[in-house]
Amino acid sequence: MNNIKNRIDSNLIKKAEILLEESKQIAIIPHSGPDGDAIGSSLALYQYLKKKGKTPKIISPSAYPVFLNWLPQNSEVMIYTNGKKEAEDYLKSSDLVFIVDHNSFKRSGDLETILKDLPAKKIMIDHHPEPEQIVDLMFSDTAMCATCELMYEFIEALGDENLIDTHIAECLYTGIVTDTGGLSYNSSNPRTYQIVGDLLARGIDKSKIHSNVYDNFSTDRMKLLGHCLDQGLEVLSEYQTAIITLTKDDLLRFNYKDGDTEGFVNYPLSIQGMLVSVIFIEKEDMVKISFRSKGNVPINTVASAHFNGGGHMNAAGGRTTDNLKDAIDKFKAVIPAFYKSLDL
Ligand code: 5GP
Ligand code: MN
Repeated sequence: MNNIKNRIDSNLIKKAEILLEESKQIAIIPHSGPDGDAIGSSLALYQYLKKKGKTPKIISPSAYPVFLNWLPQNSEVMIYTNGKKEAEDYLKSSDLVFIVDHNSFKRSGDLETILKDLPAKKIMIDHHPEPEQIVDLMFSDTAMCATCELMYEFIEALGDENLIDTHIAECLYTGIVTDTGGLSYNSSNPRTYQIVGDLLARGIDKSKIHSNVYDNFSTDRMKLLGHCLDQGLEVLSEYQTAIITLTKDDLLRFNYKDGDTEGFVNYPLSIQGMLVSVIFIEKEDMVKISFRSKGNVPINTVASAHFNGGGHMNAAGGRTTDNLKDAIDKFKAVIPAFYKSLDL
């Protein structure tokens, strides 16, 4: 079989090597509202750096979903909102900060202003489009299906693939499967499977990971999903678009916990002919919106143009301080022109 090569720029990796060598205190920052890829890549980097003799800390801007709380070393993740002073002190005395799975301080949530003013050197490891020039060294590649895939390349390019043990491999695999819907979309590069093959060879239990990530619904969460698909779903057939609405009351009724709505937005894409699916979730002080699409339908442009967000072509997010009804009305107002602009 052809050996498909590592995709990291060797000049960049030399610079990373120097920064790593010089650093004494390292912080790792996933994005706010972190997902499997953000936490998986952060934990993989954390464990790798420890093996290199460093003592890093992961500071997550906010809590992460319970379906990730089995990941190796996850108890080491500091949640900023649970201990602001300690996290701020740590960041202020850090000399190297990794910005992981995001490419703009806006996505660092409550850590935004602190990170902006930090004297530490910064390295970005990310796979989202349109990275902002906010770091000293940028590893940014939208061709990667997940930041975890890029993290694998990063560690391998540093000549350290032998440090990838089963635990690190589990973290990397989790990010790859969660960001690709279980290797169903955005995952057609043979190199991805070479990496997955290598992670399997390092002893990961694929079935266990799938079960931990996907077969872990609470009864409330399963009922919330049922409610979404029954009461909350509206299909705009004319625009091949589906909308799910969740109110604050719905969340309360089904004892909503962080991460409970993860993945719900994907379900309507299983309706024949659907190209776009959007979920509007009413939170305390805003409406959170997730966008998904199929094929050549750049739904991230709707997220960035109208809902203070962005993301990948087929998976994007945003938010608004409009009330729920106004937010949905706004979406319904822009979808006809968006649909018309598509080259179908
Ligand atoms: P989710 O809908 O799962 O929150 O996010 C889907 C994708 O869009 C993820 O890749 C996430 O990083 C990105 N995303 C979510 N919210 C935002 C946002 O406010 N701004 C940008 N630029 N990307 C976002
Ligand atoms: Mn990601």
